[in-house]
Amino acid sequence: MSDLNTTTPSSDVREIRINPIVPSESVLVATARGMRPKKAEELAPRDTRKHVETCPFCRGNEHKTPPLILSWPETGDWQIRMVENLYPVLGDDREQAGFNFGLQQTIDGYGRHEVIIDHHEHGIAVHEMEESHLAALFGVYQTRMRQLFASDERLKYVLVFKNFGPAAGASIPHTHSQVIAMPVVPENVDAEVRNSAAHYAKHHHCIFCALIDEALTFEATIYDRQSGAVRRKINVGQYVVERGEKFIAIKPFASRYEWEVHILPLVHQADFLDVRGDDMADLARVMKRTMARLDAVIGGAQYNFFLHSVPHDSQPQAHASSYHWHLEICPRTSIPTGFELGSGLFVNTINPEQAAERLRAVTL
Ligand SMILES: [Zn+2]
Ligand SMILES: [Zn+2]
Ligand SMILES: [Zn+2]
Repeated sequence: MSDLNTTTPSSDVREIRINPIVPSESVLVATARGMRPKKAEELAPRDTRKHVETCPFCRGNEHKTPPLILSWPETGDWQIRMVENLYPVLGDDREQAGFNFGLQQTIDGYGRHEVIIDHHEHGIAVHEMEESHLAALFGVYQTRMRQLFASDERLKYVLVFKNFGPAAGASIPHTHSQVIAMPVVPENVDAEVRNSAAHYAKHHHCIFCALIDEALTFEATIYDRQSGAVRRKINVGQYVVERGEKFIAIKPFASRYEWEVHILPLVHQADFLDVRGDDMADLARVMKRTMARLDAVIGGAQYNFFLHSVPHDSQPQAHASSYHWHLEICPRTSIPTGFELGSGLFVNTINPEQAAERLRAVTL
C-alpha cells in the first residue's frame, strides 16, 4: 500500500486533542514511553469453541433461553436469535423515568432490554462471520429498533451494542449483542446531538460529513496525461481505515481508545433505520474488514461497539440534517489508571495517525 503521509514512528507525541464533536471530551495523546499513564491489559483469552453443551445460547439448548422475540431465518435452522434478557436492567414494571447512562449505570425506568444471539457458533468473531450473515445481523438490529419505536411512543432511544470478550465485560461467552430501549437519550449521544446541531446552525453543514471530507483529503487520483484515463487511485486518507462504496471506517483524530474506529455512511444519513436493505451488504463488508484489521493488529480483539443513531424524541426531524449515525468500535487493550480516572481525561498512548496507518497496512 502506498504511503503519502509518512509519519516517523520514533517521534513522540504529547498533546491534548479536543473532540471536534463533543469539545468537553478531550484526549491526551501521550506516546513517549516514560510518560504513559496507562498499562497494557493482560487479556483473558476469549472462548473460541464452536459449540458448548451447557451454553444456553448454543443450538439445541433453545429451551434454556428466555422467551423468543424473533429468529432468522424464521424456518429451519436459526442463524440469529433474539430473546428477552434473563437479567434485564430495564423492565416494563416501573413507570418512573430517571436514567443515567455512564460508567456507573444507574437504571431506574421503563424500557426494554433484549439479547441478540449473533451467530449459532459459540465463539465466532465478527470478522469470521460471512458477509451475508453480518448484513442479516444489521437487518435484525434495524427491524427490532423499528418495532420497539413503534411499540411505545415513550421510547426515545434504542441503544444497540455489543461486548465481545471477557476484557470488554461480556458476561456470557457466546457471541451476542444487546438492545436497550429507553425513555431518555443517553448522555453521550445527547451531547453529540446538541453539539452537531449547534455546529449546523453556525456553519450550515453536518460536522460528521465535514470530518469524513477531512479524512478523505489525502485521496489522490492519478490520470494518464494523454488519454485522460484513470491510471491509479490512491485511497490513503490519513484517518481512513477502510472504505466501501457506501460506508467508511475512520480513526477519530481525538480517539479515546488506542484502537478506536468509527464506521459511518459516506452520504449523509441521520437515522440507522434509513439504511436501505441493499446497502447492508456494503456495511457488512466494511465492518468485517475493519474487524479483521483490528484482530490482525491487536491479536484476538476484545471490544465494545455502540450504534449511535438520531434519537426518536419529540422532534425527530429537528436533527435530520445535523446528526449522522455511526458505529463506534472501542477495542480494549489497556486499563485506565488513577490519572485517567481522576482527571476525567482519556489518555491514548498510540498516535491515531500511526494507528490508522498500521490498520491500513494489514493485508486482507
Ligand atoms: Zn454458546
Ligand atoms: Zn452528515
Ligand atoms: Zn457517537
